[in-house]
Amino acid sequence: MMTISYEIGKKLYLNITNKCPCSCTFCIRQNGDGAYGSDSLWLEHQPTAEEVIENLKGRDLDSYEEIIFCGYGEPTNEFDILLSACDYIKSVSKTPTRLNTNGLADKLNPEKGGCAGLLSGRIDTVSISLNSPYKDGYMAVTRPIYDDAFEAMLEFAKSCKSKVPNVMMTVVDVIPKEDIETAKALCEQIGVALRVRAYES
Ligand code: SF4
Repeated sequence: MMTISYEIGKKLYLNITNKCPCSCTFCIRQNGDGAYGSDSLWLEHQPTAEEVIENLKGRDLDSYEEIIFCGYGEPTNEFDILLSACDYIKSVSKTPTRLNTNGLADKLNPEKGGCAGLLSGRIDTVSISLNSPYKDGYMAVTRPIYDDAFEAMLEFAKSCKSKVPNVMMTVVDVIPKEDIETAKALCEQIGVALRVRAYES
């Protein structure tokens, strides 16, 4: 079966694609095929926007604290499906939405002319995985297909600031303390919040 949406506590998580331009060393794709006790998140085929919306229709969207695009792949790798799902959610519910992303939307969708603008009014929080405040560290951990991924991710964070109510970058708490301090300084410089997440194996 396909797990397009799954619950963790009072939050609903959406898994709209397996695709991703990164190959993070810590990715749950590389640590077994289930996450948090849910069913396998590996989608046996790429769902269409209609399939995602059909799945959402089976949920009481108002009953959740937050609806989060996350999952096994990078949601912005299927940007039009992401937008359609957001539009459906906003048409039926006031529950806030969050996009968990690697921040490479504009590399993946150059023809959109700036993805942040399209997220405006559709996504309430964008949470971007910074992973490391240094390009070398970032490249080693995320192993993206783009040489300029680090710069592109930071640019995307900046571009979201005026379009999306809440923008944050995240690091996991396993990186050195000094790196967390440097990440804080980098986020301050960009003007977004830093969230230090607990490592989930
Ligand atoms: S960006 Fe996310 S989905 Fe892609 S490899 Fe990294 S952790 Fe996995």
